[in-house]
Amino acid sequence: MSSPSGIAAPHSLRHPEKARRLDNPIPRKPDWLRVKAPGSPEYQATRRLMRELSLNTVCEEAGCPNIGECWKQKHATVMILGRVCTRACTFCNVATGRPDLLDPHEPGRVAEAAAALGLSHIVVTSVDRDDLDDGGAGHFARTIRAIRAAAPGTTIEVLTPDFLHKAGALETVVAARPDVFNHNLETVPRLYAEVRPGARYFHSLRLLDQVKRLDAAMFTKSGIMVGLGEDKTEVLQVMDDLRAAEVDFLTIGQYLQPTIKHHAIARFVTPEEFNTYRSFALGKGFLLASASPLTRSSYHAGEDFARLRAARAAKLAAAS
Ligand code: SF4
Repeated sequence: MSSPSGIAAPHSLRHPEKARRLDNPIPRKPDWLRVKAPGSPEYQATRRLMRELSLNTVCEEAGCPNIGECWKQKHATVMILGRVCTRACTFCNVATGRPDLLDPHEPGRVAEAAAALGLSHIVVTSVDRDDLDDGGAGHFARTIRAIRAAAPGTTIEVLTPDFLHKAGALETVVAARPDVFNHNLETVPRLYAEVRPGARYFHSLRLLDQVKRLDAAMFTKSGIMVGLGEDKTEVLQVMDDLRAAEVDFLTIGQYLQPTIKHHAIARFVTPEEFNTYRSFALGKGFLLASASPLTRSSYHAGEDFARLRAARAAKLAAAS
């Protein structure tokens, strides 16, 4: 799933599996992570539309700190397949438990939102649905097709689960031809057992590699959070692994702890260190790299997609 957690949410019932975990006090945020409270008229309008169409967003469910800025620009990341996740990642604020029934009308409503907001680019993500035979891949594909029909000028980015043990799921999503296929590694391999206990680092990496094998022209993207306890060498190794899988775009942002029951923040990475990570990523051959304390996988995704296309065109022109 996505990883934009940022606002402490006092809903321990959202995470029954975390109730017995030891408390991890939440440290005070440094100034560079402070954001304005949301509330602009444009933010309210985006919020109203999401409510009217009964759509869930990861912006709200994960308590993203960027919601005021993004929604002011009508940029919301829609979360399909319900509000309840079948995994229990220790960084994530999305509710866990028994998943919702699949809503067959949801793809149409997402398309309606894209058209009503006049979006040039939309990001669609989901909860993990290990309970479904296809992991929700068919629902993703239907959503992509519905957006194409209702808003043909909107480019589409999907941020998918890992579809672990779901044969054919990845192929289903790729065949629906999103413009960008994003799947987050979230953290370095050493921390997987603690941070993403239901996931496998090399499976996620292979998933991204497989997208390029199925459709070499499709842009691929992945992201990690820092401040979870990783060290710099491990981050650089993740970059090398992603480049070996020919991933085009890397995002790196600060992990923020949603509640005292979530994974403890190991430290706040400074803006200067983020700049260094960005330089390393570009040096390693990513077409685009976004690294800053508030970077999230969907943050500025529309502008970044335009940059991604331009970077590929420039690279092809230089090679010819
Ligand atoms: S960064 Fe992504 S998840 Fe956060 S508010 Fe913006 S669109 Fe939503």
